Amino acid sequence: MANFFTDNDDLRFYFDQGVPWAELVELTEYGFRAPDGFKDVEEAKSFYRDVAESFGELAAEVVAPRAARLDVEHSHIVDGQAEEAPALREISEAMRAAELHKLCVPRELGGLNAPLTVYMMAGELLARADVSIMTHFSFHGGMALAALAFSIREGSTTFDVPSGRIARTRFAEMIREIASGEAWGCMDITEPNAGSDMAQLRTRAEQDADGAWRVSGQKIFITSGHGKWHFVIARTEEAKDPSDPYAGLAGLSMFLVKAYDTRPDGTCERYVTLDRFEEKLGHHGSVTASLSFDRVPAELIGKRGEGFRAMLLLMNNARVGVAFESIGLAEAAYRAARDYAEVRTSMGKPIARHEMIADMLEEMELDIIALRALAVRSAYHEECAQKLGIFQGFFTEASPEERARVSRELPRHQRMSRRYTPLLKYLASEKAVEIARRAVQIHGGSGYTRDYPVEKLLRDALVLPIYEGTSQIQSLMAMKDTLMGVIARPQAFVRRMADARVRSLSSRDPLDRALGRLSLQAALATQHLLRKTAEGKLRSLSGKPLTSWPKAFAKDWNPKKDFAYAMLHAERLTRLLADEAIAELLVEQAKAHPERRVWAERWLERAEPRGRALYDAITTTGDRLLQRLAEEGRTTSPSVAAAEE
Ligand SMILES: Cc1cc2nc3c(=O)[nH]c(=O)nc-3n(C[C@H](O)[C@H](O)[C@H](O)COP(=O)(O)OP(=O)(O)OC[C@H]3O[C@@H](n4cnc5c(N)ncnc54)[C@H](O)[C@@H]3O)c2cc1C
Repeated sequence: MANFFTDNDDLRFYFDQGVPWAELVELTEYGFRAPDGFKDVEEAKSFYRDVAESFGELAAEVVAPRAARLDVEHSHIVDGQAEEAPALREISEAMRAAELHKLCVPRELGGLNAPLTVYMMAGELLARADVSIMTHFSFHGGMALAALAFSIREGSTTFDVPSGRIARTRFAEMIREIASGEAWGCMDITEPNAGSDMAQLRTRAEQDADGAWRVSGQKIFITSGHGKWHFVIARTEEAKDPSDPYAGLAGLSMFLVKAYDTRPDGTCERYVTLDRFEEKLGHHGSVTASLSFDRVPAELIGKRGEGFRAMLLLMNNARVGVAFESIGLAEAAYRAARDYAEVRTSMGKPIARHEMIADMLEEMELDIIALRALAVRSAYHEECAQKLGIFQGFFTEASPEERARVSRELPRHQRMSRRYTPLLKYLASEKAVEIARRAVQIHGGSGYTRDYPVEKLLRDALVLPIYEGTSQIQSLMAMKDTLMGVIARPQAFVRRMADARVRSLSSRDPLDRALGRLSLQAALATQHLLRKTAEGKLRSLSGKPLTSWPKAFAKDWNPKKDFAYAMLHAERLTRLLADEAIAELLVEQAKAHPERRVWAERWLERAEPRGRALYDAITTTGDRLLQRLAEEGRTTSPSVAAAEE
């Protein structure tokens, strides 16, 4: 029987040893307090492996054989209700029967209490079979956990501390329905005139005289929007300063909206109107809905005006999830290309032996291994950060040593998750497109036909760099975080740069020296962007030591407006930072598992020359374009104008 888990050595490495399981399992099992929980780490790991095997079999035996049908059978709106495509219905039923939706839901809420990291790693197997199925699947457990996280944050979940179990939670009904596979959630943010620019969102929420909230407006492009439970971002306050393009973010709030109820006769009473399901280029197993809200009852989540913050929590997990979708799709594309290249001959040999094709295949394989390393680590840090946050808030009886450990570990996980997530979402989704395109190219004319699966993979891949924050938005986030981090802690940056220089020159291991050179390249590019930013903002600063910048920057500093040059190069910097982050992880793996050294060597062999090219582009181009934008008066950054003066 085919199994997408057992035939994947790299993914199996993470289930066996490639994740710091001891910490993650202990956090997930509440320090092994629960009587119905696992007794130790090995027992838990063995369960996670069994789960992955079930996913692998379902992906290979149930989803993959239906992928072609998912591509052509569409879901429709009939008399105002959703009618799912037959192949999607069949897969959903198989997943419900296998009880996969409850995987990461806590036991006391009807789930199996597996880590979210396991849920995502197993989801990759579904994405390899059909990426749109993983997308829809993520709107089950992922949304249940988001509801729980919101509830914990606002204080409407209480714990029974001795057993480490949830005693009560506000969203129990929703979570139980999702765990049983009866319902799913979705995330309603985008509107016709507000996608990346969330400050422009117009959907409103108003309170009746009795205090009850009602939402009115239109949302578009909502994945799995025919579902029951909707997290809706709506405006509760007008922007205070209309001249500030970001002011609108402060007036957004998060709501939970129930889209329908099921009557005793099984029919549906709808409160949210399904306007249409989009006709898309690909990704056809996933419904993308436009919705109308007309004074629909809603429950406020958290406080008024905190919607943007709440959305970030939702999106962090979702972005890591998209990375696993991207890796699954890339794995399918690579395997199809590799298999085809072995059997297709040209000029006397299989095309896999032709240098350019061999080079492409080797890079495709390497990219997948590299991305998986970053994805697994990102998921792990994000999950540890969230779980330690819960521990800190609730387990007040913990020993002083335990509390001190949490206070030390929590900021580390938060910092690493924040660093990795935009790099991961950016690179994984861009690489999925590149790998799918190369798979088509390797198939030649056949790749462009529907006789082979790769044209579908390319169409499916194209949405990955768009949803959950486009590649450009990820790049802006990574760039701003990096630059603001240096401004806030210049000494640490200077120290890191010196360390990289020393490492590049004097480490005994050539792998360490190569990593040092790449890190130095990334640091020099960052320094250049800061210098250009400083030149634009405060000419007087150029020439002064980096350590004097924070004081000088303290006045009239607006990080949202003053990064024109850095914004121009944000994508290049992001690529460089992602290459560096992956190199660090692969070198770390090589030290712990010498058999994996080959991946670190190959990554650095490609990343080093790429880093030099990116550094060159960052340091030698851009002024002319910024000059042109300034002259055309199109720039949104006052700093460019300031730089012109
Ligand atoms: C299949 C699908 C599923 C989706 N699912 C959901 C969902 O479940 N929930 C939801 O709320 N939304 C969803 N979306 C919407 C998606 O998140 C948005 O399409 C995305 O955020 C981009 O917004 P936009 O389409 O308005 O493009 P725009 O924001 O108009 O962007 C257009 C282009 O301009 C670039 N751009 C914008 N601002 C900047 C800037 N400051 N600097 C540089 N470049 C910039 C963008 O990167 C992009 O390339 C989905 C979309 C699709 C296609």
